[in-house]
Amino acid sequence: MKYVLVTGGVVSGLGKGVTASSIGVVLKACGLRVTSIKIDPYLNTDAGTMSPFEHGEVFVLDDGGEVDLDLGNYERFLDVTLTRDNNITTGKIFQSVIEKERRGDYLGKTVQVVPHITDAIKNWVESVAVIPVDGKEGPADVCVIELGGTVGDIESMPFIEALRQLSFSVGHENFCLIHVSLIPVLGVVGEQKTKPTQHSVRELRALGLTPHLLACRSAQPLLENTKEKLSQFCHVPAANILNIHDVPNIWHIPLLLMNQNGHHAILKQLNLLSIATPPDLQDWTKMAETYDNLTNSVRIAMVGKYVGLTDSYLSVVKALLHACIACSLKPSIDWIAASDLEDDSAKLTPEAHAAAWETLRNAACVLVPGGFGDRGVRGMILAAKYARENNIPYLGICLGMQISVIEFARSALGMERANSEEFDAQTADRVVMFMPEGSTTHMGSTMRLGSRKTFFQTPDCITAKLYGNPQYVDERHRHRYEVNPDVIGVLEERGLKFVGKDETRKRMEILELPSHPFYIGVQFHPEFKSRPRRPSPLFLGFILAATGKLEGYLNNHQNGV
Ligand code: GLN
Repeated sequence: MKYVLVTGGVVSGLGKGVTASSIGVVLKACGLRVTSIKIDPYLNTDAGTMSPFEHGEVFVLDDGGEVDLDLGNYERFLDVTLTRDNNITTGKIFQSVIEKERRGDYLGKTVQVVPHITDAIKNWVESVAVIPVDGKEGPADVCVIELGGTVGDIESMPFIEALRQLSFSVGHENFCLIHVSLIPVLGVVGEQKTKPTQHSVRELRALGLTPHLLACRSAQPLLENTKEKLSQFCHVPAANILNIHDVPNIWHIPLLLMNQNGHHAILKQLNLLSIATPPDLQDWTKMAETYDNLTNSVRIAMVGKYVGLTDSYLSVVKALLHACIACSLKPSIDWIAASDLEDDSAKLTPEAHAAAWETLRNAACVLVPGGFGDRGVRGMILAAKYARENNIPYLGICLGMQISVIEFARSALGMERANSEEFDAQTADRVVMFMPEGSTTHMGSTMRLGSRKTFFQTPDCITAKLYGNPQYVDERHRHRYEVNPDVIGVLEERGLKFVGKDETRKRMEILELPSHPFYIGVQFHPEFKSRPRRPSPLFLGFILAATGKLEGYLNNHQNGV
């Protein structure tokens, strides 16, 4: 196994994750099989309990792992399926060591950060690196490890030490360290400053790690003399100093790395030049350029709770982008804070209320994404009602599906108090309820997580046709509440059809409103499996519906065109 370690210096938020996944893309384009590991030096065992406000979206894997959103970037860029173990956190490592200590595995010993924690990190990395993630047999050729945080952080120290030891044990030819750093410019036409990078490389060296390549983030391309200075003071050959300047979209980054011959420097360090092919990124180039040149756009209203930080819905945004590109459209996402649509807001913040409604009315389609807690729920219900009554394409994901059930029960069935147990535990009209999969007495991990099958109840529904009429689809889940099976009969009588269910037929997975051009709710999260050149069928259908092209597409699709 060959390792590429990506560390970061100077500041956080440099786009280290995108850089690391782009490195993977270029290596894959050279004919190598690539896997990846993301290290998050926080104490949470996983990202499941972290707030999307603070940390961005929680990404969900096939195996139900709730992980850092960077794993989503890896899956999308490298087209792989990762496991929960591909995300290492301090919490996971400490938990495993403490469990071993309690079991008596270290009997008689003092259990310490070095060597016990560092050994656990090394073992974890080495055992996860060999898990195949691309559907082929046997381990990948290269494992890209991204170390979260910034070099010098107290919490990343055990990882740095473990990786230093790993670099030593796997040998020179099997380890390549790429340090991502920032080259700031002071003033409007100021000089490109190398000092912060010099300091962070020095810090890395003090910890026993030597960077083989530098990936320098900057607003403008690096000047020759900046590169020379960096080479001289950081002790890295000029050919190994890559520059990632600002680009119109992130798909340009692998191209940027390739055009600077970054793959050559990495392959040389890893002694892979003889087996690697010249990089083939033709499709990738086409994709990046198509995106730059899109002119027509489609307005999508995203009605959610966490609209301040767009990373909170990163995969939804990416899935919309994939679908839009397949339709040669530029997504124009209008973020609407659900609470601004509510009646209370008309009194308290009338301007925000008016603006939110104006935005909603100008959108070609409405998406209500997943979420937790009751903030903004009334606004989401109003958005679903507006889309339903005005024949505007609606896609409700997870919470968005539950919202449409509540709305429909209230409006069409006259169940005024219809609600989810999540928002009103005492409601008499419990149309969405807690349905734990396992034990009802066990309180921990009561979420239904990961890949689960949804069986189509009829081939005659939009969703089945979009997916190409399979018997079932496998999509990822992350929820606790579900549509109450007791109300299905009355909802269906009034026209809301549950066209996808789980294998027990008790859990509702997909709803459609046949009297509406596109009104679909799904209990799963189709966004997690969307890929740049393989958009999620549901998102594709949603965008097609928003632009009046769905019918034509489905007709062609059915005829096998
Ligand atoms: N809060 C809802 C539930 O737990 C929806 C979850 C989600 O949208 N991911 O079922």
